[in-house]
Amino acid sequence: MICGFVIVKILLDEQQLNEGVEKLARSINDSYGSRPLTIIGIMTGSVILLADLIRKLDMPMRVGVLQTASYHGTQRGTLTIDAEMMLDVTQRDVLLVDDIFDTGNTLTAVIERVRQLGPQSIQSAVLLRKTGQQQVTGQPDFVAFDIPDEFVVGYGLDYNDEYRNLSHIACLEPDDLAVSDRGM
Ligand code: 5GP
Ligand code: MG
Repeated sequence: MICGFVIVKILLDEQQLNEGVEKLARSINDSYGSRPLTIIGIMTGSVILLADLIRKLDMPMRVGVLQTASYHGTQRGTLTIDAEMMLDVTQRDVLLVDDIFDTGNTLTAVIERVRQLGPQSIQSAVLLRKTGQQQVTGQPDFVAFDIPDEFVVGYGLDYNDEYRNLSHIACLEPDDLAVSDRGM
């Protein structure tokens, strides 16, 4: 498939993603019932998932975001968390929503930060979990897809802030990254 000048391999197409998010929403609906939920999207990667997921959930909810950043291209860097603009989570049932669970360090650090704010409970939901990369013991409570250890883009996930708008999840191949690094 040609996307700009970059050749990508589709890992999950639009229909598979829709079915995966449906399944994720069913599990979350079953788990919480009609309990009011405070949903926090971990930006920017969860932007599309958050929009699709919340429309499939039935309970009363408040929706907010916090910002994290850790990747430069395909390289992991220092994690930053900006929770300044987040909703008040004190005594609330909180569901964190993220795009992908890779090493697990981001979600673990965010859970730790949010826990300090005194919520009633914290659970987490991710679209993707990468196989074999985890460096933490905790796991997300809800996972839509387990995927191979490849760098993926689309449906919110980026490479140098591009490709978030793809409606499928694609792998960037090493050659593609070289082309992309030269500029699109
Ligand atoms: P972790 O801290 O679990 O290693 O990584 C979490 C964050 O790194 C994710 O929220 C995501 O923003 C980014 N990340 C990890 N793997 C990938 C990947 O394959 N593609 C993209 N685009 N981002 C990733
Ligand atoms: Mg992220």
